[in-house]
Amino acid sequence: MDPMMKIDPTMLKDIICECGCNVFVPMILLREVPFMYSKTGKNDEMSIQIGYACISCNKPRTTLPGVTFDAPKTLVGEDGKPIGDS
Ligand SMILES: [Zn+2]
Repeated sequence: MDPMMKIDPTMLKDIICECGCNVFVPMILLREVPFMYSKTGKNDEMSIQIGYACISCNKPRTTLPGVTFDAPKTLVGEDGKPIGDS
């Protein structure tokens, strides 16, 4: 039996981002799969989940060692203008 199944998630402590937010979204890398390795026989792509990003400040948390983030240096707000550029 999987010991993780006994854990009640409501009893666990939240992981909190440095900014105080406790909600994260999954981060996905997309990798090209050459046709000779693809089930479809055509060039394909596969997704690899590498961690989570805070929905408030976008700070990434990764569960994989050695992963680097090539995210844009300038974050853009909902109005299309850079954030923190005053
Ligand atoms: Zn945050």
